[in-house]
Amino acid sequence: MRKEPLLEIADLRLDFRQGDRIVEAVRGVDLKVFEGEILGLVGESGSGKSVTALSITGLLPKTASVRSGKIFFDGMDLLASPEEDLRKVRGSRISYVFQDPASSLNPVFTIGEQLMETVVLHQKAAGRARAFDIAVESLKDVGMPSPKELMSAYPHQLSGGMRQRVMIAMAISCRPKLLIADEPTTALDVTVQAQILELLSELKEELSLTVILITHDLSIVSQVAEKTAVMQQGRIVEYGDTEMVYRKPSHPYTKKLIDCIPKIGGR
Ligand code: ADP
Ligand code: MG
Repeated sequence: MRKEPLLEIADLRLDFRQGDRIVEAVRGVDLKVFEGEILGLVGESGSGKSVTALSITGLLPKTASVRSGKIFFDGMDLLASPEEDLRKVRGSRISYVFQDPASSLNPVFTIGEQLMETVVLHQKAAGRARAFDIAVESLKDVGMPSPKELMSAYPHQLSGGMRQRVMIAMAISCRPKLLIADEPTTALDVTVQAQILELLSELKEELSLTVILITHDLSIVSQVAEKTAVMQQGRIVEYGDTEMVYRKPSHPYTKKLIDCIPKIGGR
């Protein structure tokens, strides 16, 4: 049985205006993401991973223009959708987790206030009492001990890993179908990195999430992703089952990335 992809990007091209210069950031990206899988999108810095992800829900900077392409999500033609419809999709059906949890959280508000604000924003029907419960529930989902007490804590009282868990709680509080995690572990040390990756895998199972995991580090993808797409200079140069990509990389750039992973006991 062949499934329809949950997200399909076809021939996406976009560029940036920089003065009178045009920088082609995405040069014909095709990508399919199927329901219930983690897709690892890997490539070096500047290869176009983030702008591809942002284009999905129309979050691109004003200097960017989409030249061509289609993005279908669950039957919806996103690039042709008005901003009002995209706003409904953002945060409730597709949500993001970004690299730096320190700058994504506001230092002057408690964790609870920020979580509840997100909940109320996306689930307008939810009153404050209900929003509180949903927020606490989300903190439980991401494995936070004593979630009720945590609601009144400020971001600076938490470690980097904890803050990233809060960001993930925020992203899943509205039960999105698709979670886009853009370098979610890059700012964290290795042990915490592994814990966050494990959490993403668990959430995928428990909440039937589909995940796009963006990273410059192929070893991260290999730990959790079923599918791997390798991006280089605005194009997808390799795509397939993670295991196959590892065992039989077809593109020289992928081989280079694999060679860069330190192997335990290897040369
Ligand atoms: P990645 O996430 O893979 O590191 P990005 O998607 O952020 O890469 O950027 C891809 C390319 O798009 C960059 O090489 C850069 O040339 C261009 N770019 C990204 N953001 C901007 C911006 N705000 N203004 C101008 N160019 C940008
Ligand atoms: Mg990026």
